[in-house]
Amino acid sequence: MSKNKIETQYREKIKLLNFYNKFYYEKSSPKVSDEIYDKLKKEILLLENKFNFLKSKDSPSKIVGYKPSKNFKKKKHKIPMLSLSNAFSEDDLVNFEKRIINYLSENKNFEIFYSAEPKIDGISASLTYKKGKFITGLSRGDGKEGEDITQNLITIVDIPKQIKSKDFPEEIDIRGEVFIGNKDFKKFKEKFANPRNAASGSLRQKNPEETKKIPLKFIAYAFGYQRGLNIKTQSDYLLKLRDWGFKTNPLNKLIKGIKNLLINYDTVEKQRSNLDFDIDGIVYKINDFSIQKRLGNVANAPRWAIAHKFSSNKGISEILDIDIQIGRTGALTPVAKIKPINIGGVVVSNATLHNEDEINRKDIRIGDVVTVERAGDVIPHILSVDLKKRKKSSIQFTFPSKCPSCGSKTIKEFNTITKKKDAVRRCSNEDYSCEKISIEKLKHFVSKEAFNIDGLGKKIVENFWKLKLIKYPQDIFKLDYEKIKKLEGWGNLSVENLKYSINQKKNISLDRFIYSLGIRHIGLENAKLLSKYFISFQKFKTFSNVNMNDNLLNIDGIGETQVNSINNFFLNKINLKILNELDNVLNIKNATSVQKEGLLKNKSFLVTGKLEGISRAEVKSLIEENSGTSVSTVSKKLNYLIVGSKPTKRKVEYAKELKINVITQKEFLKMLDKVS
Ligand code: NAD
Repeated sequence: MSKNKIETQYREKIKLLNFYNKFYYEKSSPKVSDEIYDKLKKEILLLENKFNFLKSKDSPSKIVGYKPSKNFKKKKHKIPMLSLSNAFSEDDLVNFEKRIINYLSENKNFEIFYSAEPKIDGISASLTYKKGKFITGLSRGDGKEGEDITQNLITIVDIPKQIKSKDFPEEIDIRGEVFIGNKDFKKFKEKFANPRNAASGSLRQKNPEETKKIPLKFIAYAFGYQRGLNIKTQSDYLLKLRDWGFKTNPLNKLIKGIKNLLINYDTVEKQRSNLDFDIDGIVYKINDFSIQKRLGNVANAPRWAIAHKFSSNKGISEILDIDIQIGRTGALTPVAKIKPINIGGVVVSNATLHNEDEINRKDIRIGDVVTVERAGDVIPHILSVDLKKRKKSSIQFTFPSKCPSCGSKTIKEFNTITKKKDAVRRCSNEDYSCEKISIEKLKHFVSKEAFNIDGLGKKIVENFWKLKLIKYPQDIFKLDYEKIKKLEGWGNLSVENLKYSINQKKNISLDRFIYSLGIRHIGLENAKLLSKYFISFQKFKTFSNVNMNDNLLNIDGIGETQVNSINNFFLNKINLKILNELDNVLNIKNATSVQKEGLLKNKSFLVTGKLEGISRAEVKSLIEENSGTSVSTVSKKLNYLIVGSKPTKRKVEYAKELKINVITQKEFLKMLDKVS
C-alpha cells in the first residue's frame, strides 16, 4: 500500500474515533459498542507503531476524553486529568511492570506494591476545596479543560460541602467517580444503554434541579493540585479520604506482585454481578508517591498506573431463572434470566440457551454461576458453567413436556433427512389456537420484511391481541378504530395514521404475502421462488399436493422440508380460512418475471440508513425485478450507494473515496421512473 493510502486510512480511522467520542462523552449516547470502539482504537495504535511517519494531535495515544460541551462554562484543571492505559492479559501486566523497573533502573527482583482499586464505570470529577470548603467542581473534559458542573455536583449527597478535619489540606482537588447504583439504574434503563451513560447524562444536565432528581453517588480515589497534603502512599491517602468524610471503594486493596493482582482480579470479577456499582476493570497504581513522581506521565496517561479491563465480550453472572419463549413456528426457546451484567457497555440480563439439547449438554441449571458471551451482533449466550460454584441443592432443569402457553404436548420431530430427532422441542399445536404462537405469527405478519405496517409494532400487536381486537391476520384490516381511539395512549391523529398505513399496505406482492404467512422453512428467498412458480394468488390459494408437490421439488432451492411444510400449512383448515378472508381485503399482485433488459441492468446497489416508507426488502425486490443486483458491502464493484437517514458514515465516506455514485432514495426511485 502506498504511503498516501496508509496516511488516508489512518486519518479516516481517527476521524471516525473522534466521531464516536463526541457521542460517548458529550451526548452520553454511544454510537457503537465498546468492543467496536476499542478495536478501532487498537487499529490506530497498531498503524502508529508500524509506520512511524503517522502522527496526529488527535490520535487516541495523545487525547483524553472530548472537549468540554458548550452548555457549560469551561475551566482549566490546575493539574491535567488523564486517562489510563489498559491491560487485557497477564502478559500486558508483566510488560507494564518490566517497563517500570527499566525506567527506574532497578533489578528484576524489585518489589512493587500496588493499590488495586475496582474501576467504577462512571464519570470522573475534580472537586476543589479551599480551607475545607467545596468551591468548584469540574468534569474531566479533554483533560486540560473541564466543564464547570459545580451546581450539579452540589446536589450529590456523598460530596462533603465543608470539611472540618485539622489535617485536611489548605487547598486540594479531590478526584473521584460520579456514578449511579445498579438498582437505581433500573429506573433509567429505557433511556440509557448502561449506568455510565446514565450518570454522565444526568450529571451534565443544564439544570441542576434535574440532576437533583437522580440518585448520583461519588467515590473518591485521587487528587490533583494540592497544598498541605502530607501523605506518602496511595493506600494511606485512601484511608485519609474516609476520615475526611468521603466514600471510598470497599474493595480497594494493597497488593504485592502481579500473581496476587491476578488472583484479586478473578475474585472481583466473580463478585461483579453482586455489586451495586458497575465496574469495568481494576486500576493498579504504584502505591509509593515518590515512585509515582519519578515515573511521571506519557501524553495522556500516568506511567505508574494501568487499568486491567474486564473482557468487553464476556462476563460472569448467575442464572436467576429459565424462561421458555414460544416462537411463531411453535419452537420452545429457553432463555436464561441472569443477574444484570455490563458486557462491553451493554447491560445484559437475558441469555439464550438455544434449545433443550443445549441445556442438557451443558447441564445448565437455575442458580448456576455462568460465563456469558456477547460478541458482535450475536445474541448473548452461556459459554460455560462454573461447576465448583454449584450449590448441593441444585437440581437439573426439566424441559416442559407441555406448552407453557396452551398446554398442548411438546414434541421433538423426527427429521427424515438427517434421520435424527430435532434439537428443538415444539408445541404440537403450531397454529392460531396457541396464544403465544398466534401473537408471534401476527408480529411476523406486520414485520418489516412482510407487510411492513408502520405504527403496528410488537407491543401494539400484543396489546390488540389481549384486547381481542385481533386474532387472525385478516382482523388487522377490519380494526375497530372507534374502540382504539378510546384506548390509553391513542388519539384521533395516531388512529388516523395507523388507518392510513394499514390501508396503504393492502397492495402487496405475492412473494411478500407468502413470506408474511410465516410458513415454517419459508423465508424471504423461498417465498420469492414460490411466487415465481405460482405467479398468482389464486393459484397459490388452490394449492394441491397431488398436482404440485413434484413441481415444487423441481424448483432449485426448494426441498422436501419446504414442500412438507407447505403441505402441512394447506392441510390446516384455519389457514385456508385465513387465505380466503385475506383474499377479500387485499390486492395481491401477481409475480412479475424478472426483466432481463430492465432499467437497472448491469447496475449494483447497496442501501445504508433508514429509507422512508419502503423497507430494505422492498428495495431489494425492486432492484431485482429491474435486472439490477444488490450487494452487501462497499467495494469497487458497487455502482450506487442509496443513502437514507442516519447512514453508516464509514460506508458513505468510503463510497465517495471510491468515486461511487452516492444517491438519495428519491434519485433511486427516479431511475425507475417512480417519481417525477
Ligand atoms: P477509561 O475509562 O478506560 O479510564 C480512565 C478513567 O477511569 C478515569 O477518567 C476515571 O474516570 C476512571 N476511574 C475509575 N476508577 C478509578 C480509579 N480508582 N482510579 C483512577 N481512575 C479511575 O478511559 P477513558 O479514556 O475515559 O475511556 C475509555 C473507555 O471508554 C474504553 O473502555 C472505551 O471502550 C470507552 N469508550 C467507548 C466509546 C463508545 O463509543 N462505545 C467511546 C469512547 C470511549
